[in-house]
Amino acid sequence: MFKINQNFLKLPGSYLFSTIAKKVASYKEAHPQNEVISLGIGDVTLPLVPAVTDAMHRAVDEMGKAETFRGYSPDGGYEFLKKAIIAGDYTPRGISLDLDEVFISDGAKSDSGNIVDIFSTDNKIAVTDPVYPVYIDSNAMAGKTGDYIESRQGWSDVIYMPCTAENNFTPEFPEETPDIIYICCPNNPTGTTLTKDALSAWVKYALDNKAVIIYDAAYEAYISEPDVPHSIYECEGAMECAIEMRSFSKNAGFTGTRLGFSVVPKALVSGGVALNSLWGRRQGTKFNGAPYIVQRAGEAVYSDEGRAETKEQIAYYMNNAAIIREGLSAAGYSVYGGVNAPYIWMKTPDGMSSWEFFDVLLEKANVVGTPGSGFGPSGEGYFRLTAFGTLDNTKKAIERIKKI
Ligand SMILES: *Cc1c(COP(=O)(O)O)cnc(C)c1O
Repeated sequence: MFKINQNFLKLPGSYLFSTIAKKVASYKEAHPQNEVISLGIGDVTLPLVPAVTDAMHRAVDEMGKAETFRGYSPDGGYEFLKKAIIAGDYTPRGISLDLDEVFISDGAKSDSGNIVDIFSTDNKIAVTDPVYPVYIDSNAMAGKTGDYIESRQGWSDVIYMPCTAENNFTPEFPEETPDIIYICCPNNPTGTTLTKDALSAWVKYALDNKAVIIYDAAYEAYISEPDVPHSIYECEGAMECAIEMRSFSKNAGFTGTRLGFSVVPKALVSGGVALNSLWGRRQGTKFNGAPYIVQRAGEAVYSDEGRAETKEQIAYYMNNAAIIREGLSAAGYSVYGGVNAPYIWMKTPDGMSSWEFFDVLLEKANVVGTPGSGFGPSGEGYFRLTAFGTLDNTKKAIERIKKI
């Protein structure tokens, strides 16, 4: 008799986005004349830039000719893309990587979910709270998180590190020592970052405690302040304790095109075994590579045109972020993030719960955002707005919120 993976049954239902959709649908039905604007979108809206689509067209033509057709991608991805990544993202920051330390993938969500494969079940994970849900759920599916405790809205065997306005959204070292530490910087959902000193302290902590840091840098391209590290490897010692994940989704609009990569340095070793070889083995067995056409598209992001064009898109979103941030501050709200990330994290007014504020915003301003409590217990009392909308809608939404 076959048996299912019981760990799936322990997962709490993910009601966040379905509850939002239902509430919005029923509001629209009751008020068909009102135009509802969503600043809840966690997806890019601008199209792929010309440098990228041109490269894709060329690659499609190559695939249609016998002389230039390509089959399976080499394990770990094409050299042309890895070289572009190392030369574009790492060498200029004084970080030296070998080609086989970069693993091309179909995105950072897959990588952050799949990485659990190479770690033992009895590792203790630590996550920031609020958190990008993939880190926890992927561990829960692998039976590494204990039981879900409804009253705490958390797992018995997970270390939660609250990130709130009180600690300036910088996680403190937990009482219990973790084995695996997930850090997302710039952060989704809070839009906040760690300074180089704060991240360096975490690197030292990981080295001292023989822990590994899984560093999600999906929003790296949005960093505007000089004191925020673009890569964890800017911190001394990180090559021995950190895996870095990146994505083409948010910096180049690849959410539907799919491309990302992980850096697993060969110096990252546990019990004499390099994690690099384990991850290579894992990917070689379960993943057959990102499409050639998409890897060529990714290479084009690093061309002069690609850089200039994607930079413009990020500037467009960050202009929206500034409008949201400044508009809400002027209206008296406490607002965080939005300077190095396309997310604005605001405190709900008058001690309202995240869902109460959701309802007020929907009914009085016809604006949709995301309740902070959906990202973890420490998100209660906060609310997320995103900068991925159009400029017009963003301006309109903020004017309406100001009038509440
Ligand atoms: C959007 C996002 C990603 C990117 O995932 P892809 O699978 O590359 O699209 C990764 N991490 C976080 C925190 C994100 O918000």
